[in-house]
Amino acid sequence: MEEKACLECGVTIYGRSDKKFCSDNCRNMYNYRQNRTEINLVRQINQTLKRNRNILKDLNPKGKGKVHRYDLLQRGFNFNYFTNEYRTRKGTLYRFVYDQGYLQLDEEYFYLVERQEYVD
Ligand SMILES: [Zn+2]
Repeated sequence: MEEKACLECGVTIYGRSDKKFCSDNCRNMYNYRQNRTEINLVRQINQTLKRNRNILKDLNPKGKGKVHRYDLLQRGFNFNYFTNEYRTRKGTLYRFVYDQGYLQLDEEYFYLVERQEYVD
């Protein structure tokens, strides 16, 4: 007979080889924790995106304009999180956080734009 450890509590399980938990209780607990971890991860990413969008919007009251990298970083902008990219025919790459976009001009400056309609 095969012996395995319960994924939740580590107790040895005997019997069917596809069994992963010693009890329904342990299975429920394990699944609950897995879900909670996923929900927290999604929540964190959503919060980061929301903050990024607010920062871009605050810095761009006219719908377009130039900002220094420092202004973004100082407000806590996270360059790793954006919702989509848009490359123009000329090859210019814009990154968007929802409707708020930015284009890196050089090492210091960014150009901010606002988009009205949705782009794939
Ligand atoms: Zn268990």
